[in-house]
Amino acid sequence: MARTGFYPGSFDPVTYGHLDIIARSARLVDRLVLGVGTHHGKNSLLGADERLSLLADVCAPIADAMGIDIVAETFDGLAVDAAAGCGADVVIRGLRDATDFDYEVQMGQMNAAMAPQIETVYIVASPATRMIAASLVKQIAGMGGDVTPFVPEGSQRAIERALEKRKSEST
Ligand code: ADP
Repeated sequence: MARTGFYPGSFDPVTYGHLDIIARSARLVDRLVLGVGTHHGKNSLLGADERLSLLADVCAPIADAMGIDIVAETFDGLAVDAAAGCGADVVIRGLRDATDFDYEVQMGQMNAAMAPQIETVYIVASPATRMIAASLVKQIAGMGGDVTPFVPEGSQRAIERALEKRKSEST
């Protein structure tokens, strides 16, 4: 039976940490849907279209190498509803540390109460990418730091463009 996974997140922008989880979950499912959350009130640096296009670029080689379908789409409601809407069997989440663990277990259990047919699968971050958080990457870039160890080139350029735009709008 073909299995579909749904991996939700902000992906603002996609980092090597997300890519680690994507590549490893590609071993578990036949089709992976990346859900880009676009909730009102969540203050993202990049627009939804840009986040989708960055994901499409970096995931194409993974999809080819693993022989599975990887698609990225937006959602703005409950992740569990979006997962059910795309026919997912499993929701994929990454775990970096105890903070992620506490939050993710609680959310996973509430999701299970709402949609018991969908199992949440937790993938523990790889040591090399465990420290990466998109929010910190943006802070580092904003203060002129080098983010090449943390994000693919496309993400780096998108952050630079967005920060430049914010700067020129505020002056
Ligand atoms: P959020 O907006 O929920 O903080 P993100 O969009 O950054 O999260 O990430 C979505 C998912 O990816 C979450 O399950 C998060 O734990 C996971 N994740 C983010 N960064 C990493 C990383 N460096 N290693 C493993 N998982 C990660």
